[in-house]
Amino acid sequence: MVEYFENPLLPGKPMFRCERLSASLQVESCAGMWNKANAGGHPPERLFRCLQCPLGAEHAGVGDANMSPLRGTTICSRCSGTDLRLIGGNICVSCQDRAYEGLKGRNAKGKAPVKHPPLARRSVRYVCGGEVRVLARNLTASSDELVVELLRDSPKRVVIGRGCVGGGLRQGVLL
Ligand SMILES: [Zn+2]
Repeated sequence: MVEYFENPLLPGKPMFRCERLSASLQVESCAGMWNKANAGGHPPERLFRCLQCPLGAEHAGVGDANMSPLRGTTICSRCSGTDLRLIGGNICVSCQDRAYEGLKGRNAKGKAPVKHPPLARRSVRYVCGGEVRVLARNLTASSDELVVELLRDSPKRVVIGRGCVGGGLRQGVLL
């Protein structure tokens, strides 16, 4: 249970004790920080604790926040490496280099690259904000890449569909 109170000097501005930030906050500022933290991209460090906060989501009037542990991380959507510099916010430098070598047909040593999965256009269907949408990407190595991208980048909860085959929607959790 959250208890709300008012500062007599600021009537009409409900406040509460935020455990995550160990501070008394106005509901309004909490909502603002949650919105900023969840606006996409990488939030400023001081807002990391707002990222997956259900109370912040509630204050911001967004009940369906993306609570995936991947949300806001710098995980590479192709190799699942974490804490990497991501090219275009999506794929790490090493994966990008290997993809480039695969397209060129030779690696840095001038030889044919080995074991690179063929890159192709793939798409996944998903539900977000009550709408069915499709995410399509060129030059992907697997459709898991798209799933990681959605779970990492979507401010709202996503429910991933497994294309048209296999049927059934799956909760937006990476197994
Ligand atoms: Zn990678």
